[in-house]
Amino acid sequence: MSESLDMLVTSVAAQLMGAGAASWVEASRGVLAELVAHFDVDVSFLRRNDHSIRASILVAEWPVRPETPDPDPLAVVYFADADPVFALAEHQKEPLVFRPEPATDEYQKTIEESRQVPQVSMACVPLLSEDDTTGVLGFIKFGDRDWTEEELNALQAIASLFAQVQARVQAEEQLRYLAEHDDLTGLCNRRALLAHLDERLAEDQPGPVAALFFDLDRLKAINDYLGHTAGDRFIRVLAERLRESAETPNMIARLGGDEFVVVPTEPMDVAAAEALAHQLQSTLRERVSIDGETLSRTVSIGVAQGIPGRDTTSDLLRRADQAVLAAKGSGGNQITVFTEDMSLQNEFDNDIELHLQGVIENGALLLHYLPEIDMRTGDILAAEALVRWQHPTRGLLSPDAFIGVAESINFAGELGRWVMRTACAEFAAWRARGIGRDAIMRINVSPVQLVTDGFVETVAGIIDEFGLDHGSVCLEITESVVVQDIETTRVTLDGLKKAGVLVAIDDFGTGYSALSHLKSLPVDTLKIDKSFVRELGSDPGDLAIVRAIIALAEAFGLELVAEGVETDAAALTLLRHGCHRAQGFLLSRPIPGAAMETLFSQGRIPVSFSKS
Ligand code: C2E
Ligand code: CA
Ligand code: CA
Repeated sequence: MSESLDMLVTSVAAQLMGAGAASWVEASRGVLAELVAHFDVDVSFLRRNDHSIRASILVAEWPVRPETPDPDPLAVVYFADADPVFALAEHQKEPLVFRPEPATDEYQKTIEESRQVPQVSMACVPLLSEDDTTGVLGFIKFGDRDWTEEELNALQAIASLFAQVQARVQAEEQLRYLAEHDDLTGLCNRRALLAHLDERLAEDQPGPVAALFFDLDRLKAINDYLGHTAGDRFIRVLAERLRESAETPNMIARLGGDEFVVVPTEPMDVAAAEALAHQLQSTLRERVSIDGETLSRTVSIGVAQGIPGRDTTSDLLRRADQAVLAAKGSGGNQITVFTEDMSLQNEFDNDIELHLQGVIENGALLLHYLPEIDMRTGDILAAEALVRWQHPTRGLLSPDAFIGVAESINFAGELGRWVMRTACAEFAAWRARGIGRDAIMRINVSPVQLVTDGFVETVAGIIDEFGLDHGSVCLEITESVVVQDIETTRVTLDGLKKAGVLVAIDDFGTGYSALSHLKSLPVDTLKIDKSFVRELGSDPGDLAIVRAIIALAEAFGLELVAEGVETDAAALTLLRHGCHRAQGFLLSRPIPGAAMETLFSQGRIPVSFSKS
């Protein structure tokens, strides 16, 4: 090789050596410029092959076209549609030289159309990586040009340098892709989201930056009842919809499980972000068909904004997270914009904590009862005791407002004992008047009670104290608690069983599934969580799950109660599938003790459900 060609190859090697994923297009362009000057040609280009889509993709060219059309017809050229000369680049192994002659007419025309230059000659040198043609290095001369053997040798050496950098860059990009993306959906992962937000919230960046936090309502149930493969497929479909449905460009990340975050790449205030949330929510709500089951899950979305230079990534994500919690807390399937009030929740809890201490001595607690009904006959089968707190300034509080706080200050045991005693006392008083003799009193048990030493003895003691038979009291335990500490739970449940006290698994279908333990746990009843019941009759996905739970209960010989019956359609659907015990606002609201006693004395409520 001549000395000048030698020097050229050395210079190219030096320029490409340090190039990485971020800099190699720029570095390539510099090299192409040098080659154009050295070989006295008019245009030089570097293209890479993407065999997965059978296309040639432009990496760099020199000179940069002053007016690149948009879309650029040369950016991605599919081999299947390409002219014959272009198509050769797919598997070309040796340099090719073309000079103006009739045989390359068609090719000339392509060039002429895109560059408005007639009569060109060119050299195309393949980029080779082992046996694979990974791209092409090309040179165009307007007019005629011949290439010497020596020049072509030098070009092959240069093409091989390009092939090496390209392979390295691709490996680098692949690694980066893996590090930043979620395996299941191909969306960005948490790490990529944090990096993106850090950049967006830096001082002097355009703002506000909006974040939409998505949380699928009750996805667990699909995993539990239809299998993990179905759950994964479901998530993938939703991810695809999120990707496709957005009209504006977004950064979309999956944080794991059923949590997604969407960050619009344009600055956006909360009002616009809320509108976007509505748009995305309605596409996500559309049904998905998996293994012949039609599924749909509602989604809760929390919306928040951050101001660059003022708010940090964790500020923004915390707000969006608090907003989505609030959305889920008010029943799910909602869009909630973060407000400072949500930070005030903490203060509320502190106030509750302060007043909770004296609540029992003050006589501020009371019980309401929720009737449980045989929907075929209207017979009243049971009453569930639900605790209430007459708060000095906040009115009648429902347990969701204070049970959590009670547990956090170790007050749950005392509160639980109060509920147990009061429910048993009232129930015994009714029975003494001949009322509710066949009925069951259901009492909710908080997780911490369950693991307290001597729990079984305490329960048995209270029931005996009021002269009730053990089989007329049923303790309700939330599903998630059952599996959290399965061994302790098992011991306690065995003890209750021996004592003859009934046990129900509450909120069945929502928790970390107790399914695998059902066979071995001494449980009498499953209560289907109200979130699956509420939209029965309109949501086929819920029906699939409810049917699975009904089949389970039958298989294990368990009593089944549906919670949250609010509509005729839900009642009729349950009856049609063989579940007839139910609670819910359609049948009765929770009522004070005196009203419950009256209901028991009447024995039944009128039931008739209409199809409409
Ligand atoms: P839970 O055990 O699932 O109780 C049923 C809850 O669903 C009650 O809310 C009831 O009012 C409500 N509900 C009944 N039918 C319907 C319906 O058709 N639609 C809707 N949307 N809701 C319906 P409540 O009284 O606010 O109780 C909430 C939770 O607090 C209970 O859920 C239970 O987990 C807990 N809880 C209640 N009382 C006690 C207690 O004495 N001790 C403990 N540890 N927890 C309690
Ligand atoms: Ca319950
Ligand atoms: Ca429940």
